[in-house]
Amino acid sequence: AAKNQGKHRYVFYEKTHTREAEQRLRMEQDLRRAIELDQLTLYYQPQIDLKQGKIVGVEALIRWQHPERGLIPPDQFIDLAEQIGMIRAIGDWVLKTACKQVADWQEKGVPELRMAVNISPLHFNDPSLLPAVESILEETGLSPSSLELEITENVVQTTENNIGIFQKLRDLGVRISIDDFGTGYSSLASLKSLPIDSLKIDRVFISNMFKDTNSTILLHSIVDLAHALGYLVVAEGVEQDQEVDVLRKTACDLVQGYLFSKPVPPEHIPQLATQHFMAGSKNKRLAACS
Ligand code: C2E
Ligand code: MG
Ligand code: MG
Ligand code: MG
Repeated sequence: AAKNQGKHRYVFYEKTHTREAEQRLRMEQDLRRAIELDQLTLYYQPQIDLKQGKIVGVEALIRWQHPERGLIPPDQFIDLAEQIGMIRAIGDWVLKTACKQVADWQEKGVPELRMAVNISPLHFNDPSLLPAVESILEETGLSPSSLELEITENVVQTTENNIGIFQKLRDLGVRISIDDFGTGYSSLASLKSLPIDSLKIDRVFISNMFKDTNSTILLHSIVDLAHALGYLVVAEGVEQDQEVDVLRKTACDLVQGYLFSKPVPPEHIPQLATQHFMAGSKNKRLAACS
């Protein structure tokens, strides 16, 4: 009987594996055609200047509008895109779409916003990135300083090669930002050899702010050190009023998070761009959002 059971179990696992493999294969086939079928779309999340209380930039965040599965978040397909060699095509599409979007908003009267775009480490290390960025800037007429490339902290290595890529991008006038800072192992000291413009402090760090006094002290010292190195500091995933109070005290420059706005489709931005955030009220939420 034990033997039989084992056999059945084996068959069961095999079936599950087959189903998973089939699903993955279908996802892969679908993803390969997602660009041509116009299924990829960008949402934009406002970045608010704490001093001015208004939007100065946005971060482009990709979604996949799948005909059967609905809106798929990036965490569910970016890895796959990297594995099947699609990340460069997707990355180029994102860059082009995002840069064009700034001009579209400008036509609707929105002052030129800074556009932050996430770049996969694979794409970042691809020699095609630099010429692609160059031609997209030329094609869209976006000021290079209005484009910011975000690269995740835990993949940033201060190799000669990386420093070279950073430097060439910056020679174009493009800004570079370190994303998810605080989740990896790099210290600010190790980053200082990289030519970067801003540091995005990860959401985990922000939400742990009140866990103990050490967390607050650490946050203060990160912001101070980043400023001393000449970086702009962005806080990610800000969800609470109290967090804003502390971030203001630490002189953090920009804030981004659900407290202000979730990522939204492009047509929402012109209205948001006219709003005053934290306009003198005790409530840091959108004053005009009611
Ligand atoms: P990320 O670049 O660190 O982006 C921030 C993520 O946090 C976004 O998730 C955003 O929607 C979410 N978020 C923002 N504010 C809050 C908040 O207050 N609370 C909470 N709980 N979450 C908040 P999203 O859009 O699902 O993107 C996840 C990750 O996927 C991004 O993390 C980025 O690493 C990657 N990604 C997104 N778009 C692209 C892209 O175009 N290309 C590449 N290569 N990666 C992308
Ligand atoms: Mg990002
Ligand atoms: Mg991040
Ligand atoms: Mg991330």
